[in-house]
Amino acid sequence: TNFADLGFAEVILRALAQEDYVTPTPIQAQAIPPLLQGRDLLGIAQTGTGKTAAFALPILQRLLDERSRPAPNTARVLVLAPTRELAAQIADSFRAYARFARISVGVIVGGVAHGPQIRMLAGGVDVLVATPGRLLDHVASNHLRLDSTRTIVLDEADHMLDLGFVVPIRKIVSRLPKDRQNLFFSATMPKEIASLADDMLRDPVTVRV
Ligand code: AMP
Repeated sequence: TNFADLGFAEVILRALAQEDYVTPTPIQAQAIPPLLQGRDLLGIAQTGTGKTAAFALPILQRLLDERSRPAPNTARVLVLAPTRELAAQIADSFRAYARFARISVGVIVGGVAHGPQIRMLAGGVDVLVATPGRLLDHVASNHLRLDSTRTIVLDEADHMLDLGFVVPIRKIVSRLPKDRQNLFFSATMPKEIASLADDMLRDPVTVRV
């Protein structure tokens, strides 16, 4: 199988050609079809398996299919990552795959000024990649509303637990609409993470690589 058979739009296929991606990795081959259908996913995978593209590509395809724009102070898709570095890497991947599409990608992390983030959120954003603490600051100050975010990705959930992010994550998830697509990735499944996954996911497809 190749990326064209999976049903991606030409703007995405062109970006994949530029990245020199020819064949989907195992997690991509297993995760992309159900994600394109809107299913929830539990991905038990380490980094280096191609998991970023496994979630980013179907998310971008579904955004393109919807042909809508984000309202001010909202994000259509929220990706939560444990660290600034991982958030920046995920955003870079989304930007590379969306390079020929009209899709906006924003990053919200701690340790930097609020002003530019507030201005970015004011315009609304298609894909927002964030660490939990600073994201909640923007929600508390009403610079970001989560009531129209219909897709959430939790990346490296076990690492989130180690950093004490389970309570902030639960707070963020409680602000999302009930009708949404949930993508949950973790390399390991300690019991707090299994119970968070169980609370968030609805009839998920499980992919282990
Ligand atoms: P990740 O597991 O998401 O950190 O990805 C690991 C590396 O694999 C990154 O450098 C990606 O650019 C690369 N990659 C992801 N998918 C593919 C693919 N289908 N073909 C070739 N390289 C890929």
